Amino acid sequence: MQRLLIKSPVAVAAFWIAVYLAIALLPLFVLLLYPPALTGRGFWTEFSVALGFVGLAMLALQFAITARINRIEASYGVDIILQFHRYISLVAFALILIHPLILFINQPETLKLLNIFEAPWRAKFAVIGTLALIILVVTSIWRQRLNIPYELWRTSHGILAVVAVTLGLAHGLGVSYYLGLFWKHLLWSAIALSALWLLIYVRLVKPWIMTKRPYFVEEVIPQRGNVWTLAIRPKGHKGFRFQPGQFAWITLDISPFRMREHPFSMSSSGDHPERLEFTIKALGDFTQTIKDIKLGTKAYLDGPYGVFTSDRYWDAAGFVLIAGGIGITPMMSMLVTAIERRDDRPYLLIYANKSWEDMTFREELDGLIDSIDLMIIYVLRQPSEDWTGETGYVDKALLQKYIPIHRGSRQYFVCAAPVMMEQVEEALHDLEVPITNIQMEHFNLV
Ligand SMILES: Cc1cc2nc3c(=O)[nH]c(=O)nc-3n(C[C@H](O)[C@H](O)[C@H](O)COP(=O)(O)OP(=O)(O)OC[C@H]3O[C@@H](n4cnc5c(N)ncnc54)[C@H](O)[C@@H]3O)c2cc1C
Repeated sequence: MQRLLIKSPVAVAAFWIAVYLAIALLPLFVLLLYPPALTGRGFWTEFSVALGFVGLAMLALQFAITARINRIEASYGVDIILQFHRYISLVAFALILIHPLILFINQPETLKLLNIFEAPWRAKFAVIGTLALIILVVTSIWRQRLNIPYELWRTSHGILAVVAVTLGLAHGLGVSYYLGLFWKHLLWSAIALSALWLLIYVRLVKPWIMTKRPYFVEEVIPQRGNVWTLAIRPKGHKGFRFQPGQFAWITLDISPFRMREHPFSMSSSGDHPERLEFTIKALGDFTQTIKDIKLGTKAYLDGPYGVFTSDRYWDAAGFVLIAGGIGITPMMSMLVTAIERRDDRPYLLIYANKSWEDMTFREELDGLIDSIDLMIIYVLRQPSEDWTGETGYVDKALLQKYIPIHRGSRQYFVCAAPVMMEQVEEALHDLEVPITNIQMEHFNLV
């Protein structure tokens, strides 16, 4: 079992799902094993309470899901974990809302508990905790529509989550009907303490570890397309090795305790931890400051993360890399690492951009062709009149022209703007590329 868990990614992924289910359903099992003395509360009341308990356990588990635990991230990748986080929080949210709704329908007299001025504390906790949860869900789903800046959203998201879980637990303890027994106290105390520890770990321990492993900015290199490469060197330690295509969270010029970090893929070779390069497009508040960063500026890195890497497919016959705009960064890392490792497998790079002038890494890529079995197809959306290459969008017709006939023999990596990623994914499905051969990296996590 141990060998299987370590060696097979599917087994590791299944293991974590089993752990999740076991913890989420644990309150129910304990409830069944040690039921309170029968008082004839009726099925619907018991059912509603069970939903509340499972919903609360799922909320507490969200702290573990988002704590960037390397072992879990290495099994699924950040995209899937965050998708899971989003969907499972909606399930927990629904369970927590259904819990009082059933009570209100079944015992209408409980409606008066909504009056938080007169209701007992246990009901006050429930109402305020649920309100916090509603605000948390609404601001997460409609953050962009509500124009909430990312940093403000992230801070408030953390605070609302702590408030919702703490008050939920306080509500359960206050009702005490089910939590009166020692075992149940023990279980919920363990769940609450684990969530608290994760919070302390993410907010205090991890940043503290990062302060012990600082980096400094060695070079800022202008690139085509309003893009800058930030070269960073570890100070007093060896840095970290990474698999080409992975990313790290960067904090620049401020303390890591401030939690204002941004994710960027490494664009340099995975085998050179002594100098890490990040190639960054100036798009918003933070990324627009990169060009003005002074040499010697302190940096902190949390990484590496991600499963978008050719290293996971050592048995692939070759690779098809499909990049749009700044989505070229993980591909660049895979290519330069492949050259250093004398990888003789075929690489096809399909790289779309607005114009030839904006084509980040254009010269560098052309310089790689002689060192590796690499074919590059540039695709321009706004070509000049003398452009003789591909134009328009990366669609089924274009892909069909270049991807190998034996589609399942290679691994396909796609990283681009969301619209292009959707179109390419659909086209690859139409072209019967097996779904297990398509790897996607989304740069827009939230
Ligand atoms: C796995 C991954 C790898 C990435 N690699 C690269 C890369 O190699 N090169 C590159 O140029 N960009 C990359 N990005 C995108 C980059 O992280 C965002 O463009 C950047 O964080 C935007 O910050 P801003 O303050 O300049 O933009 P803003 O205008 O403030 O934000 C634009 C959008 O970026 C996202 N964003 C903002 N701040 C953060 C944050 N702290 N954490 C996460 N998302 C945030 C939000 O969706 C926000 O709406 C990557 C993103 C991910 C998830």
